[in-house]
Amino acid sequence: MLSSLSREIFDLYDSYKAEYITTCRFTQSEMLVWLDRFEERHIFEKSILGLSAEGREIALYKLGSGPVKVMLWTQMHGDEPTATMSLFDIFNFFSKKTEHIITTTILEKLTLLAIPMLNPDGAECFIRRNAQMIDLNRDALALVTPEARILKSACEKYRPDFGFNLHDQEPHYTVGTTRNITAVALLAPAIDESRSDNHVRLRAKKVASVLAQVLELFIPGKTAKWDDTFCPNAFGDNIQKWGTSTVLVESGGWRGDPEKFFIRKLNCVGLLAALYAIAADEYSNADTAIYDRIPVNMELGFDYIIRNAVLGTNAAADPVRVDIGVNTEKHINTSTGRLEEYAVIADVGDLSRFAALEKDVDAAGTELNLGSFELERSFAAEKILPLINRM
Ligand SMILES: [Zn+2]
Repeated sequence: MLSSLSREIFDLYDSYKAEYITTCRFTQSEMLVWLDRFEERHIFEKSILGLSAEGREIALYKLGSGPVKVMLWTQMHGDEPTATMSLFDIFNFFSKKTEHIITTTILEKLTLLAIPMLNPDGAECFIRRNAQMIDLNRDALALVTPEARILKSACEKYRPDFGFNLHDQEPHYTVGTTRNITAVALLAPAIDESRSDNHVRLRAKKVASVLAQVLELFIPGKTAKWDDTFCPNAFGDNIQKWGTSTVLVESGGWRGDPEKFFIRKLNCVGLLAALYAIAADEYSNADTAIYDRIPVNMELGFDYIIRNAVLGTNAAADPVRVDIGVNTEKHINTSTGRLEEYAVIADVGDLSRFAALEKDVDAAGTELNLGSFELERSFAAEKILPLINRM
């Protein structure tokens, strides 16, 4: 049942996605315009939770009227917008597909408590931290930031049964040693140092197993899980400990998808399916061994890999046959104010265990002259990327 429904909403995606979201870089004021569209249609009830460090309103949107409470919060890190976009796709699904069994079951059995963009100040400049330079996801105990206090008090006020902690991860992780770039990573966070299971965490593992099974339909072998070392001051771990079955979902990388729209779609479909499984109580039969078997995220990826190149580093050393890992970074050029792309040679040597997000080329012994390069030095991307693209 769940797999056929998941396939159906995957195939229908273009008919309900929030088509007005056309870039993954947006601010809170842009997001508020999207929310206005729904307010006229009364699909949710809005309550202001408080103000960010710079005084932006952080609100919770309540949908449905069921007995089981599910809280979803996005963009605790300002530069991690994928799930915020997915949340709008989900709101759109409910508002366009009002008679669909997924909509009716979820809204009847669950009360959804959505907090889109918990860190609007960080989102304003597309940075991880809040305006006080604090990582909110390490502030679950100290609570020095207003945003962390807001999330904690929302948990205390609503006492949700389930929670979805929605993030983006660096797109260079791989699914274990499979040489597949991780598209989505999951975690049912630990509640203590010994990573023990109680019924709260076991329920989270069941939900994560459901999500993994759904994702497997569309992206076989591209789902990883995070190492579950207990992080004492992180929110996921603490919210799990406070009694809400919590799953961390990290949007990863996908080739040719810099705006992460495909990952956004996967997130939307996966979350709708997981919410339906909770609402219809299909999750409770899930086998946690599915979650246990997911390979752990490993940092074995680069944006580009040039394999088997012969590199002359300087006149005194012999040329060597190597693989070259290249990453790209975007910086604001302070004199022009424009966003520019740079390429960084991240590693040179035997990269046979590594995978490339964007392009993996075999130089087949071609001698490369990258000038007098050094590791981790930035090159304007126009110097290296055309070389890769010519191969
Ligand atoms: Zn994050």
